[in-house]
Amino acid sequence: MRILVIEDEPRLQRNLVRALQEEGYAVDASPEGAEGLGKARHCDYDAILLDVMLPGMNGWEVLKELRRHKATPVLMLTACDSTDDRVRGLDEGADDYLVKPFDLPELFARLRALIRRTVGRSSSTLQIGEITIACQARTVRRNGQPIALTAREYAILEYLALHRKELVTRTQLYEHILDEQDDTLSNLVDVHVFSLRKKLGHELIVTRRGQGYSIDQ
Ligand code: CA
Repeated sequence: MRILVIEDEPRLQRNLVRALQEEGYAVDASPEGAEGLGKARHCDYDAILLDVMLPGMNGWEVLKELRRHKATPVLMLTACDSTDDRVRGLDEGADDYLVKPFDLPELFARLRALIRRTVGRSSSTLQIGEITIACQARTVRRNGQPIALTAREYAILEYLALHRKELVTRTQLYEHILDEQDDTLSNLVDVHVFSLRKKLGHELIVTRRGQGYSIDQ
């Protein structure tokens, strides 16, 4: 999953990026509205954390402009805890909001729920045949036995599982599991899929030749 953080306060931005990366997300960040909007339009993020008070273009303006083009889930970070602000945010197309200062566990929980809602799933546990994926704990079991996956392997598996029965292209996988800092060549999707099949069974992930991958079960 790939997240965009639009936040101008350097310390908060740094902390958010680091914490999200530790949770296994690929993360891009921008300190200003216009630049952030550019990134949001260019790339299909799984969710955007959007600060309201930004230099230049503020969060409301970014949201309004973004909604003319894209339905990317947006979680607003607001300093003001007024009902007006909340109503305004939801009216203008925000999917959720958090009032600063907020706890990271709450942010993570809201983010997971937001991403699940977007793909139309309500449970944080995904069951595919003998494979159980616990999205909150980021753990995978096969027939009840824990399977150790690398962060990248987990990210690919989770993305495919959330988009079960859909074709997921390699481009999509690159876009959703890597961030701007990543060297794509050292993170070949095919290599991770090969390793996932070894650990989870060869029939789980289907190759659609020349197109990408899918989990069809
Ligand atoms: Ca701010």
